[in-house]
Amino acid sequence: MKTIGLLGGMSWESSADYYRLINETIKSELGGLHSAKCILFSVDFQEIETYQFSNQWDKSADLLTDACLSLEKAGADYIVICTNTMHKVADAVQQKIGIPILHIAKVTADTLKQNNIKKVGLLGTKFTMEEDFYKQIIEENGIDVIIPDQAERQQVSTIIYEGLCLGKISAASKEFYLKVVDKLNQQGAEGVILGCTEIGMLINHNDTTVPLFDTTKIHAVQAALQSLDR
Ligand code: GLU
Repeated sequence: MKTIGLLGGMSWESSADYYRLINETIKSELGGLHSAKCILFSVDFQEIETYQFSNQWDKSADLLTDACLSLEKAGADYIVICTNTMHKVADAVQQKIGIPILHIAKVTADTLKQNNIKKVGLLGTKFTMEEDFYKQIIEENGIDVIIPDQAERQQVSTIIYEGLCLGKISAASKEFYLKVVDKLNQQGAEGVILGCTEIGMLINHNDTTVPLFDTTKIHAVQAALQSLDR
């Protein structure tokens, strides 16, 4: 079994889900008392958030690179960055480390293709929804990406930073997200990417008939399967 290097803390609320999902996957694949071999480097998210909102992506890339180098030195075979947004610096980090990064948008694009999705809605932080680093990878796979309107994007993103990343789940936030999911569906999205690793804490497939693609689940399950020597 390979050793997974988890780069977490962004936020720790969703890193805890990654740890559980990875171990559940190994348990269901191998049975018995099997569990995942993994190493977690958990950063201080306040520092990352400050760099994000002051447009200092180079500094956050340096911070994540150092963390990845520690994971590599500790014996990790590959890296799982437990956030969508920080994949904005994934290429910069990848150039400076010796082990591969399992890219969250690439595994999500694979899953969308397997489900024959041609047009998808994207929810996430404003960085993930508005910039190209994430959408481009989905679109390169022949899938159209649509995002909510400006006011909705602001609200979707605020709920992530001021609610979900602090472990706050409210009925009003849930209602708002479900309204946005429905609207994207009415605009032609055959499914919606939960493109932020905390959104699964708020809504899931029991709340809507619109197919949801939860990137935390997709990424964690792929991370676990990749560790098996098959
Ligand atoms: N975990 C979130 C994501 O998947 C947001 C936190 C962050 O900005 O890294 O994008």
